Parts: sequence; structure tokens; C-alpha cells
Amino acid sequence: MLVVMKHGASRAEIDRVADMIRKMGYEAQPIPGKQRTVVALLGNEGRVDDARLLTLPGVLRVLHVSQPYKQVSREWKPEDTVFELSNGVEVGGEDVVLIAGPCSVESEEQILETARRVRAAGATVLRGGAFKPRTSPYSFQGLGKEGLELLALARRETGLAVVTEALDAEGVQLVAEYGDIIQIGARNMQNYALLREAGRAGKPILLKRGMSATIKELLLAAEYILLEGETRVILCERGVRSFDHHARNMLDLTAIPSVKELSHLPIIADPAHGTGHRTKVPAMARAAVAAGADGIMVEVHPDPASALSDGAQSLTPDEYDQLVVEVTAIARSIGRGIARPAESAVIAR
Ligand code: PEP
Ligand code: MN
Repeated sequence: MLVVMKHGASRAEIDRVADMIRKMGYEAQPIPGKQRTVVALLGNEGRVDDARLLTLPGVLRVLHVSQPYKQVSREWKPEDTVFELSNGVEVGGEDVVLIAGPCSVESEEQILETARRVRAAGATVLRGGAFKPRTSPYSFQGLGKEGLELLALARRETGLAVVTEALDAEGVQLVAEYGDIIQIGARNMQNYALLREAGRAGKPILLKRGMSATIKELLLAAEYILLEGETRVILCERGVRSFDHHARNMLDLTAIPSVKELSHLPIIADPAHGTGHRTKVPAMARAAVAAGADGIMVEVHPDPASALSDGAQSLTPDEYDQLVVEVTAIARSIGRGIARPAESAVIAR
């Protein structure tokens, strides 16, 4: 529930509302806004009787948030969440953010070459896993800390922001030191200890939808992060398990307008994991932009045939060049552009 204060409500009036909420047995969280302060009531299961709050001085009205996820919902915050990355790229705004890079960081040469090529094509965020969640324990598990160092090197060389995955709560701090965005993978979407730790790390979070998670479960997972105080959360549709194995996963494009209706958080699409096949990635990237995605994340490898993970769904740099041309045209046709870094983003040479 939200108690909306009148414009110009005094500090004492706001404190009194918060005290009353606590007296009623709930948690109070004042949220100062541009126009007015809102005091959130947290910790309720069902509908709360608002009679005692409505009559307090300075109270304009009370809003009941009907969704189980509160801070993530549009009822809580009607306007879109927009924020800037370290290189000045705006996420969740008018422009579509392009994220690209290999599934895994494999070597200095591989990550630098990929970073340079995707940057030249128009990407502003480099992806690459240093800690990999692999289905088989015998598969390549990532370079670990060395992979993070290589990502940091690629950022210095290109000015790209870096998104990379944290596999467990213990690893969050290390990933936060090197990355600009902490990725929570599909297999970890409901790892609540990890979500909480990531929400405290002080970096934006990319939260991927679990392969059998409902939209409600995805939004509740994001709620864990917002409850820790981190509001810079990007949701990611990466496909769900289906009965049909013609593709690795079924990219649920309906998730995009659904999430936009229910939540103020940005949502991007990952047509690489969403299809599993290089040949299908461009079409689904175009479709996702048309559906309203705030960003597109794809896997790019200088030599997909030799990739240590997800080669079959990785594009060559030349194929990525073409994909960017196509998604740019789709974005323009719906009144959007492609996000650019701030003029001031420094690129070390
Ligand atoms: C990845 O982004 O490389 C990855 C492992 O994705 P997901 O968690 O969606 O399977
Ligand atoms: Mn991958």
C-alpha cells in the first residue's frame, strides 16, 4: 500500500504517517519524489485497513497495490525506470540498447577482437561470462577471475560497459568489482540468497527469466532485488522450455508487452539463448525490437565453430554487423533509436 502525501507535506506529517504504519505492525518506507513524498507500507499479506492513515494531516490519498510484487509494479511507479550505465548509455529510455559478446570469455585475443567488432557495429555493452553455469560439470566452466580481468581490459580498450554473470552469493562482490552490470542467469533466477546479495552490491542487475518461470515469478524475483534498495534492474526474456525441440528454447515475445504493462522495469530480449541457432537469431532480434524490447543481447564470437560454449547460437562479427543494420531499421520504424554512449565516455588507448 502507498500513502501519497500532499504537495508540500511537512517532515513532521511524513514522520507521523510512518510512525502510524509501524504502530499498525508494518514496515514504513518514505520515498521522496519530485512532486510529493509517498510513504510505502510493506510487509502486508492481504488488504490493509487504511482508515487510520487517511485521516492523518498531510495525506492526499492511499493506493492499494494489488500485485504480489509491489515495488516492481506499475501501480507503485507508473513511469518507466530509466538509468545510465557507467559509459553514459541510457537503459529503459527511448533508445534500444545493444549488448553483444561471446558466451564465455576464452582468451585476451578473443574478447578484444569481439569487443572491437561489436563496438564498431554499434553495441554499447559487452557481454561475456567468466563464471559459467553449465548443464554438465564436464563442460568449460569459465576462466573465473582471469576472465573478469580480460573483460576489464576490453572495457578500457573500447569504452564498452561490461555485463557478466555472478553464479553465487559469494561471488557477487568480485563480479561487482569488475563488471558494470551483474547478470543473474536463468538457472539462478530463484536463487534468493544470490538475488539479495546482488541487490546490495551497488551495481545494476540483468535478471534473466528462468527457463520455466512465469512472468509473475520473474517479477517477484526482481522484487527481492528492489527490496535491497537496487532499482536499476533489467529484465531479460531468454526463452522458456517448450514441448517442441526445433529450437533450444521458445522465445516468449509476449513477455515483452506483458512485462511493460505490469512493471516499470526495462526488459530486453536474448534471441541467442531464445533460439539456440545462429540462423534464427536475426529474425527474432528484429521481432523483439518490434515487440518493444528495450535492448537486444546476442552472442558474437570471432570463430563460432571453435567457441568453448554456445558456438551454435553465436554470430560471426560480420553477421552481427548485418543484424545491427536490421534492428536499427525496425527501431526507427517504431520511433526509437539505438542507444549511444555519452560523448564524455573515455576510451583509453
Ligand atoms: C548466458 O547468458 O550465457 C547464459 C548462461 O544464459 P542463461 O542463463 O539465459 O541460460
Ligand atoms: Mn551462452
